[in-house]
Amino acid sequence: MKPDADKGLPRKHLQRNSTNPSTIFNSKNIAKEYLTIAAMIDIYCRKIHGRKNSRCPKCLELLDYVEKRLQFCRYAENKPRCRECPTPCFAQPQKALIKKVMKFSGPRLMLYHPFLALRHLGKKASDF
Ligand SMILES: [Zn+2]
Repeated sequence: MKPDADKGLPRKHLQRNSTNPSTIFNSKNIAKEYLTIAAMIDIYCRKIHGRKNSRCPKCLELLDYVEKRLQFCRYAENKPRCRECPTPCFAQPQKALIKKVMKFSGPRLMLYHPFLALRHLGKKASDF
């Protein structure tokens, strides 16, 4: 694929995490997917669980699960949106939890992380 496709990814999102997602995942596409979900879990945890600077144990566990599942995503660079994926990698009960998080944080993502939000909606930054 295009090696420069992720040029627009804000660096601060990578640095904010203790581990750099691009080193955990062998696909940049998956790394971005992970960042998007992490950002949504952060918003959810802040607003619903009242956490300010750190994720609560429940959300940490969920993010850990997401990380493990994404590492095994068979689609990598050609990954469809989760909703359209023929082999969704999240099983219950995490699937229900992720759905709840996405439903809550999806619309709010635009406020906090516009670039990730646009990507999540299936548009490329270059379209704008
Ligand atoms: Zn939480």
